[in-house]
Amino acid sequence: MVLERPRPAEEGPLQARDIPEPTPGPGEMRVRVRVCGVCHTDLHIVQGELPIHKLPVVLGHQVVGVVDAVGVGAKGFKEGDRTGVIWLHSTDGSCEYCRRNAENLCLNAKFTGYDVDGGYAEAVIVPAAFAYHIPKNFSDENAAPLLCAGVIGYRSLKLSGAAKSGRLGLYGFGASAHIVLQIARHMGCELYVFTRAAAHRELATKLGAAWVGDAKESPPHELDAAIVFAPAGPIVLDALRASRKGGTVALAGITMTPIPEMDYSLIYGERIVRSVANSTRQDARELLELAAEVPVRTEVTLYPLAEANRALADMKHSRIEGAGVLRNS
Ligand SMILES: [Zn+2]
Ligand SMILES: [Zn+2]
Repeated sequence: MVLERPRPAEEGPLQARDIPEPTPGPGEMRVRVRVCGVCHTDLHIVQGELPIHKLPVVLGHQVVGVVDAVGVGAKGFKEGDRTGVIWLHSTDGSCEYCRRNAENLCLNAKFTGYDVDGGYAEAVIVPAAFAYHIPKNFSDENAAPLLCAGVIGYRSLKLSGAAKSGRLGLYGFGASAHIVLQIARHMGCELYVFTRAAAHRELATKLGAAWVGDAKESPPHELDAAIVFAPAGPIVLDALRASRKGGTVALAGITMTPIPEMDYSLIYGERIVRSVANSTRQDARELLELAAEVPVRTEVTLYPLAEANRALADMKHSRIEGAGVLRNS
């Protein structure tokens, strides 16, 4: 499924196209795609809410598939291995950020399904050094949402500083939040979930949220940390309002509507607002290990790959509980 021109998800921006089978170069491998998760970033790309890096482009950066061709010098995998492909496709390994262990901020990073073709396809190319073994206890479709929703959510959780037994607020309850909730509970946090959709509230309660309400509501206790998943700037202010002194509000999204002007008192008291950008390979490895240990149960809605447009539109309108996943038939 190829994006040739960005437009609203309801207008069917992705087209089925026959494209030549990709061949892995040195250090790379080709992965036969079984499933690919649908991410909010994909929605932002198809709708032109992020700058276009490549057109036409095949989206998709939560791939679970099987290695079917290994390039010269690609280490750690062999043909037939089940493999995960994520958003971070490659880094230069040499810029100032890579050298200070912040490869998520690499000046020359390439991203799957954005700078290079991704997994809304039959096959995808990945550098072996940026591919992951999937824990055995996950099916293909249940593993797919871990690869971005899980990894970015996990990095957000770390950067929020939510300590053991802390009170953590989650604003928005889609694919990422439903995974973070389970990991944070496992770590001993108490979860406060802010979401409007009735189905999302129900899922949050089922997964063990201590309290569920609307972003405008005051929770019964001040929050020690919060993660904002909803791409809506005004919610940052709601999260600050609910946070205690010294609390951190982490913003998980790749883009967001403008954050409104606010009174200094809202952030005074050493409250911190910080964004979360991409992930490191270490984040991904830690998340996969932790997800198997918890074990995280992902809620997925399956779509045939040919119905990728419908999956994107359903996500846009909060009609998916948990995560949307595309399957190759
Ligand atoms: Zn770099
Ligand atoms: Zn993503």
